[in-house]
Amino acid sequence: MQKTPLKLRVAHLYPDLLNIYGDMGNIATIEKRLKWRDIEVEVSKITAGTTINADDYDLFFAGGGQDNQQILAANELMKNGMELMKAAQAGKPMLVICGSYQLFGKYYLTADGQKLRGISILDVHTEAGDSRFIGNVTAVCDFLPIRTIVGFENHSGLTYLGEDAEPLFKVKVGYGNNGADKTEGARFNNVFGTYLHGPVLPKNPHFCDYLIELALNTKYNCKIPLLPLNDEIEYYAHEARICAKY
Ligand code: GLN
Repeated sequence: MQKTPLKLRVAHLYPDLLNIYGDMGNIATIEKRLKWRDIEVEVSKITAGTTINADDYDLFFAGGGQDNQQILAANELMKNGMELMKAAQAGKPMLVICGSYQLFGKYYLTADGQKLRGISILDVHTEAGDSRFIGNVTAVCDFLPIRTIVGFENHSGLTYLGEDAEPLFKVKVGYGNNGADKTEGARFNNVFGTYLHGPVLPKNPHFCDYLIELALNTKYNCKIPLLPLNDEIEYYAHEARICAKY
C-alpha cells in the first residue's frame, strides 16, 4: 500500500521585521533535517500585512529584532494573535527568539519607555534593563535527550515568568531571562520562547528534532519516530561552544 508522504508546513513569522543575529538559520536547519529524512517541507514567509489561518501551518518560527522593528512587529502580531493562540492551544510547536519571545509575552517595555503589548501566549513580561546581556550561553534542559543547550544572547530586556509559564532552560553560564533567577526562556504547551541566537538550532540538533517530532506527532496524531542522522559535525560545534566554566 502506497504510504502518504509526510509533510510539514512551516510559518516563518515576519522575516521582514524579526531576523537578526542569523536567526533565519533556524529555518534552514528545520528544512534540512526534514529533507534529509525525505519529509516534505513547505516554508511560508508571513510578512507584514498578512493575516493567517493557523490551520494552514504545522510549525511556527519567529526571530529576534531591535526595539524599532519590534514596534512594527507588535502591531502585526496583534492582528494574528487569536490565530496564533488557537494554534498554541492545539499543541502546534512554535519557536520564538528574543524579540519575538518578548512579544509572545504580555508586554515589552522598551528602553525609551514604550509599552508594546504582546499576544500573551507566554505568561511572561519584559522590561528593558540599563545594560545589554551579550555573550555565549551554556544552559541545561530537562526535557531533551541531551541535556546541554548552547547559544548566543544579545538583549537589554529583562524577562520575568508568571505562574503559567515554566522556564525552558536553566542557565549555567550567561545571563538568560534576567541575569538573576538563572532561568532561560519560557514554555507554554509546545510554545518555546528563548533568548538564544546563534542560530540556536544548528548547534542543538536534539532541540530541532524535538520540535520536528512535536509537529509531526501533533499533525498526524501519532508518534512518528525520526530516522537518526549523522550529527558528528553538529555536536562538534555544540561541544566547542560549551563554556569551560560549565
Ligand atoms: N530589542 C530587544 C532587546 O534588546 C530584543 C533584542 C533581540 O531580539 N536580540 O531586549
